[in-house]
Amino acid sequence: MALKRDKLKREQKTLLAMLKIYCRNHHGITGKQLCPDCRQLREYADQRLQKCPFGEEKGPCSQCEIHCYKPEMRERIRDVMRYSGPRMLSRHPVLALSHLIKERKHKSKSSRKASASSK
Ligand SMILES: [Zn+2]
Repeated sequence: MALKRDKLKREQKTLLAMLKIYCRNHHGITGKQLCPDCRQLREYADQRLQKCPFGEEKGPCSQCEIHCYKPEMRERIRDVMRYSGPRMLSRHPVLALSHLIKERKHKSKSSRKASASSK
C-alpha cells in the first residue's frame, strides 16, 4: 500500500480544524463537538479523501479536476474553506500554511462571477 497515511491524516486534521471554526461561528456550537450537519459533512469528506485516486499527489480538493464531491457537498465544503481558510492562520499556522502553499501550486483559473446577471 503506497498511500501515505500521514498526508491523509493531515488533510483530515485540516478539514476538522476548519469545520470547527466554521461551525462555531455559524451554528453556535460550544464544545468540541460539531453540529450534526457539519459532522455529516466531515464524514463525507473523509470518505472522499480515502478514496482519492491521487493518493500522495493529491492537491487541494477545491481545485481538483475530478470533483468527486456531490455538488451539494462541494458547495458546503467550499463555504467552510473560504470562511475558515484565512482564520486558520491564527489558530493553526502550520496547517494553514501548508494548505495555502498547496493552493498556490495548484493555481487554476478562478471562476469569476460576473455580477451583471440580475438586478
Ligand atoms: Zn455546524
